[in-house]
Amino acid sequence: MDYAVARRRMVEKHLVKRGINDPRIIDVMGDLPRHKFVEEALQSQAYTDYALPIGEKQTISQPYIVALMTEAAQLKGTEKVLEIGTGSGYQAAVLSRLAEQVYTVERIVVLARRARRILDSIGCNNVHIKVSDGTAGWPEHQPYDVILVTAGAPDVPQEYLAQLAPGGRLIIPVGEYYTQTLRRVTRMPDNSFSSEDLIMCRFVPLIGESGWSSD
Ligand code: SAH
Repeated sequence: MDYAVARRRMVEKHLVKRGINDPRIIDVMGDLPRHKFVEEALQSQAYTDYALPIGEKQTISQPYIVALMTEAAQLKGTEKVLEIGTGSGYQAAVLSRLAEQVYTVERIVVLARRARRILDSIGCNNVHIKVSDGTAGWPEHQPYDVILVTAGAPDVPQEYLAQLAPGGRLIIPVGEYYTQTLRRVTRMPDNSFSSEDLIMCRFVPLIGESGWSSD
C-alpha cells in the first residue's frame, strides 16, 4: 500500500472537503505517518476517517476530529501545549509540529510507552510524556497556551482552567459518558472565561479524580 497516496487522499477527502483550511495543519497531517501509530493489522485503515482501536479499550481519534481540535487550538508555533490522553501519540505528534513544547499525560502505562517509542522513531523530541491521572493537569509546567483533552469529561475540571495562561484555549469534549460536545474555553486577558460549543463528538471517557470513575 502506498501510504503517501492514501494520506493525500485522506487530507483532501476528510479534511479539506469538510472545511479544514489551515495550510499548516494540512501539511502536517499530509506528512505524518499515521499508520505507524496503529497496530500492524490495522495499518491499511489508518487513512480512513475512523477512530481505530489502539489496545486497552482505547482509540486513536478520527483524522477529522484531530484536525478540528488542532484548528480550534489556533497554534502559531510558539506555544506550550498540554494534551490529556496521549493514547497512540498521534495527536501529540501533530501538535509537536505546530507548537514549541508538548506535554502529554496518559493514565495507562503501556500506551504511554508505546507512544514514546513511536514519537522517538519519527523524531518528535519536543513531546514530554507523563503517566498519571491527567484530570489534575500537569502543574509543574503551567501555565499552558493550549490544553487539549482527548477523552470525554463529565464537566470541565477546574484544574485545567487554573493552568491556562491568559489568552489560552482549552479544547475539551464535555457531556455524557458516550456522547459529548466539543467545547473551546478561552481565558480572556481579564481572566474571565468565554466558552463556545463546536460540534457533537464521541470520545472514550476521561477517567480519574475530576473525571468519570473507573468502574
Ligand atoms: N490523543 C490520542 C487519543 C487517545 S484516546 C491519540 O491521538 O491517539 C484517550 C486516551 O485518554 C486513552 O489513551 C486513555 O487511556 C486516556 N485517558 C483517559 N483518562 C485519562 C486521565 N485521567 N489521564 C490521562 N489519560 C487519560
